[in-house]
Amino acid sequence: MNFNLVIRQLVQNLRTRTFVLNYCLRNPTQGRGQGLMGVDGEELIRSYAEALERTCAFLTARGWALPPQVVSGDPVPVYVCDTTLLLEGGSPFTYTRNGLSRVFLRSDNGEPTREALRQRAAVEATHEAAHVLTHFLLPRRTSRLEMPDPWGWFDEAFAVFLEGQIFPEYAENLRYALHWVRSPEWSLERDALAFPPGYPGGWPGGYFAAWFLEYLVGRYPGFGWDLLRDTWRNATETERPVRVLARLLSQRGVMFADPDPAVPDLFGAQYCIDTYFVQRVFPRVFARFGERSLTARLMVQPGQTVGDGPDALEHLACRYNRLDPAQRTTRVQLTLEAQATPATCFLKAALVAAGEDQQPRQTVFLQRAAGSRSGTRLQGEVNFPGPSSHVGLVVANVFVPADRWPIDTRARQTYRIEARGL
Ligand SMILES: [Zn+2]
Repeated sequence: MNFNLVIRQLVQNLRTRTFVLNYCLRNPTQGRGQGLMGVDGEELIRSYAEALERTCAFLTARGWALPPQVVSGDPVPVYVCDTTLLLEGGSPFTYTRNGLSRVFLRSDNGEPTREALRQRAAVEATHEAAHVLTHFLLPRRTSRLEMPDPWGWFDEAFAVFLEGQIFPEYAENLRYALHWVRSPEWSLERDALAFPPGYPGGWPGGYFAAWFLEYLVGRYPGFGWDLLRDTWRNATETERPVRVLARLLSQRGVMFADPDPAVPDLFGAQYCIDTYFVQRVFPRVFARFGERSLTARLMVQPGQTVGDGPDALEHLACRYNRLDPAQRTTRVQLTLEAQATPATCFLKAALVAAGEDQQPRQTVFLQRAAGSRSGTRLQGEVNFPGPSSHVGLVVANVFVPADRWPIDTRARQTYRIEARGL
């Protein structure tokens, strides 16, 4: 079915400051019933309207511009309808062409209670309003944002991040945190489709990266919001979001990603390590989903060596191992053997000693060591802070490829580990 056939059926409307919501009633006061195309009362429309406007106010207060059609006096059209007729799966969506957006929201989101329906509706409207305020800023304005797109992950991560900022009290905004917790080995630039064929990707694409943006803004409260806005606004036609972010951060003296263990880069030395402690960073995510996934948990014995791997790591992703001390183990020596040669090795790894209270005590970055024949050897050691303590091993691939969908070997690094107890 095409857009116009759907739009023609939406005979009612509600005008707000920035939007006009078009809809119809499932059971109108007279005439033919509209079935799934119609809404069951106007409460849903009011929830949508309120969330759309709240999101616009939030972003414009942080320096975002209004969409071009609003600037020239027209509202952004919103169509509340049976979205399954337009998109497989029937998710809400925003269609932007030549910088002009149209929003499609569901006439019913299927939640089993009125309250859940209302909360999900509000969060979905916020998500689409975020797209409306960002899509027209895309550096390549004439084409619509289509998956896969180099901006796809950032676009969805931003919209999901905003859900939690506008409605922090609604559990609905945590929906995609499952994937963030479960799959630290997914690249930040993951696409919603496994595309190009053979390239790692798939549902839910960059939605999970919302928690990277939340970390970023929390880490730099003074300029985090400016950074997000300017990533959209200041990109050149050829830059991808990670490249713009890296450029804007370096202007503020922060390195985005760097394999040198002495450089406290944002991705490898801060984000990947800090989010090993989910409870500290995102307590609500922890309460529902627990710790991020471990690649393996190993018991370290005095005088013995235990190994694990090999494992592969995509660019801008990380893996976690947990090392527990057996009785009388006071210290762990860790060796990481990377397949890549020293010139092409972009793994950055750290041992983080955590106390009985699960709080970090000491962080030791692995240093390059001699001895590996063909690959790269990284080594480090740290004390266990006490009998019920543990050490987390955080391994990040901090390579930032020049192009999206790199086939470069540096974008996928393979390594194995050995831990020796003392
Ligand atoms: Zn979206």
